[in-house]
Formats: sequence, structure tokens, C-alpha cells
Amino acid sequence: MTTLIETTIQQPILTPDLESLLPSGRESLLLGLAGGLRTSVCAADQNLGHMEEDLLRGGQELFRQMLEQAAQQKAAAAPPLCPHCQHRLSRRSEGHGTTIQTRFGAIRIQRGRGYCKRCRKWRFPADAVLGLPEEGTQSPAVQEMAALTVSKMPAPEAEQVIERLAGVKISAATLGRQARQQGEQALKTRQHLDQQMSQPEGKVQQDEDLQLKLALEPFTLVIELDAWNIRERDQWGQSEALRKKGAEPTRWHWVYGGTCFRLSQRAQTASGRPTLLSRGYAMTRGGVDALKEQLWAEAMRRGLGRANEVLIVADGAVWIWNLAGDRFAGARQRVDFYHVSQHLWTVAQTLHPDDAAAARAWIEPLLAKLKADASCAVITELEQLQPRLESAARETVAKEINYLQTHRERMDYGTAKVRGEPLGSGAMESTCRQYQVRFKRTGQFWSQTGDEALMCLETFRRNGRWHILFPHAQLRDPAKN
Ligand SMILES: [Zn+2]
Repeated sequence: MTTLIETTIQQPILTPDLESLLPSGRESLLLGLAGGLRTSVCAADQNLGHMEEDLLRGGQELFRQMLEQAAQQKAAAAPPLCPHCQHRLSRRSEGHGTTIQTRFGAIRIQRGRGYCKRCRKWRFPADAVLGLPEEGTQSPAVQEMAALTVSKMPAPEAEQVIERLAGVKISAATLGRQARQQGEQALKTRQHLDQQMSQPEGKVQQDEDLQLKLALEPFTLVIELDAWNIRERDQWGQSEALRKKGAEPTRWHWVYGGTCFRLSQRAQTASGRPTLLSRGYAMTRGGVDALKEQLWAEAMRRGLGRANEVLIVADGAVWIWNLAGDRFAGARQRVDFYHVSQHLWTVAQTLHPDDAAAARAWIEPLLAKLKADASCAVITELEQLQPRLESAARETVAKEINYLQTHRERMDYGTAKVRGEPLGSGAMESTCRQYQVRFKRTGQFWSQTGDEALMCLETFRRNGRWHILFPHAQLRDPAKN
């Protein structure tokens, strides 16, 4: 996978002696920790949890000191180059102090400053070497904690969770601001990565087995699409579709999403529930065109281009089939079975408004026909009963016939069953629900840029690309340590 770090400075090879990285007061710090443990060992009302707590809280200071010393050494060795253009800095001076918030508490370091004539800006090369954004004082771990928690819960809750689990206090305001900044950075990174997918260098972003020249078993790439709406403070982009649905159009806006996976990567959990071993996601508040580009790039990473066949599954929304025809021309199309059956149920209830059993008796043979790829027979049946109906019912049935006609070619459920393909877009619908848990809380309003940034973070994590945003989060190979 590529890394995308805008500011990279080559550091000289450093070999600090280990002693210089150990805190001077370590004996007393360790003794303090042991003292805490001894109390827990002896106290009848204390258990392992108390010991864990002792070490977490008590160890902070030990680690904080070690981190401070290590950071200082790394900062001191930062070459006097501009982090943005690599130009040599002039008018250099040392001893500019800064306090950095880390997961072990605040550390203080001194570093050099210089002027970049090319950028016409004062620069602190040490900050870039340590992974701090320009004028930023939050360590990469704190940046990540903010991004991870605030994309899942409101900042005040995130503050409590972090304090409890990590033993470090970071204010809700800082977390919110930091998450927003990280999200905005993620948006830029996503754009860059997505653009790369139309170039040869995009290959490194593909699933690992797709990058190999090896012959692959023929596979079908499945793409599912769906949309949901979000509440925002502004009144941007009032949508007709919302008014049609009878929703208040000034505050609710569409979020468009898609997911893609290889059919061969569908498996079952121990309890028999279908699950996907690897899948990609796209989710955006930026409109259908934004989704089109994001989803295409994600599909490329997951096998579009090497797939024998592409299958699109979604409900009947017009934007979906426009997008599919536009960006995934040649793909097979399937309309979600459940949605189609809902349309038939509307007819059933029109024909038998007060008789649930009769409605069911009427619909069951039709559903069976649908499942046997006989959509034409279903349409014919509706057409035949139409003239016998009084006008209101006739209108309803005409509407549903029209729906079925539109999607006639997309109702190949018999084929789906034989091939082990999904009959519906349930995988995407459940994804949308999961996003909604965070982004659609009661009484919660979002700004367009704010929700897009946080959603982008969530999507990076789901796509297994979190480490591109936070390189330290990639698990280290113990063999290399
Ligand atoms: Zn520069």
C-alpha cells in the first residue's frame, strides 16, 4: 500500500545510546509503581483491575519522560530543510520551545527554526520529523485518537472514553477540532489516491492478490448502492426527491454510498450468517458525481478491470441506474428483490384492502414467478387484471406496472440463486444503517464539510487504509524489532 506523507525529511542515521533514552528518575518511578501494586496485592477489596489501573496511570510519567527524551533527540537531528520544498533554510536559530500533547501527557522540547526563501515562511523541520502538522501541538497518536473516537461518537463522549481507557485527558473541543483537521486531511488524501487509480501507479492500491501476475479464478465483482439522508444546519442543495418523500427539504440531505466485493469472498459465519471477507466502501455527502468517482476507484482496488463480470445490485432509484450505466457500462444490473416485492405488495393491498390472507394468497404465486426469472409473466398478469379495476386502483396498478417494466431486465432472481449471487442490496443497506448510527443521532446537526470529513475517516478505516492516514497505526512486525 502506498504511503502518502506530504512532508518527508530524510534524517541522518542516528544511534543514540540507550542510557540517554532512559528517564533519570526511573528507580523511584518504578518503586512507586511497585508500591501501588503491593497495595493492590494486599488489599482484600482490590483485584487485577486495580493493578492494571495502577500501572496505566502510574506508568504514564515514566513513559512521558522517555518519550520527551526520545522526541528531543529526534528533533535535534532534524536537518535544516523546509518540510514542504526541501529547500535549505536560512536565518536559522535554535532553542524554540514547544509543548506537545501526547498519549502520555504533555512533553516539552526545544527545536530549531529557519526561514524558507522559496516558501517565504518560517519553518520548524523538527515538527515535520515528529509528525506534527504545521503549528500543531498534538502528537500523531493524539491525532489518531481524536479521529478514531470522534468519527464514532460525539466529542464530549470521546473525551470521557479516552480519559477512561487511555488515562489521558484531552478536551472535547480539542478532540473535535483535531478530528475535523484529520478528516480534512483524509479528504485530500482520498482525492489523491482515487486519482491515482486511473494511472498505472494505482496498482499498488489493489487487493494484494490482484497485484500479482498470477492467473486468478474467474470472479464476479458485486457492487451495491444505496442512499440515506442526513440532517445539516445549512440549507444547501434542496432536493426534489426529498420533497417527494414529504420530508422537510431545508435540513435533510442525501448521502450516497456504495460497496463492492468479489462474489468469491462471500462466506458464512459460524452461526450461518453471510459475511464478506473483504469489501470496499464509498460514502459521500458530495453528491452522485462524487460517489461515482469514489466508487469507481474503490471498485478498481477490489478487482474491477480483472473481473469476468460486474454485477450491480440496488433498489429502483433513478440516480443509481444512471450512475451504473455511466460508470459501469457493461455490468449486469439487478434490482433488489425486497423492493420489488414491496411494489407487488402495494398491488396486493389495493386488490384486497381488508383481507390480509387474500392479499398473501394473491402475491405468493407472483413472488414465486419472480424467483423463477419470469418477470414478464408477472407484468402480463398485472396488465390483464388492470381493465377490471375501478379508476383509483387502476392508477395504482398502472404505476406499479410501469415500475416493473422499467426494471424488467433487472429481475433475474432465478439466475441469482443458481449462481449464488445476492438477490438484494442488503449488504449496502446495513452499511448505511451503521453510518447512520453515528451521523443521524437525535437532535444532531452537521455541516456539509464537517460530516463529509468525519465520514471520510470512517470510510478509510473500513477500507483498511487507516495506516495511510496514521502510519504509526500499522502493526509493527515483531520480527523486525
Ligand atoms: Zn519551502
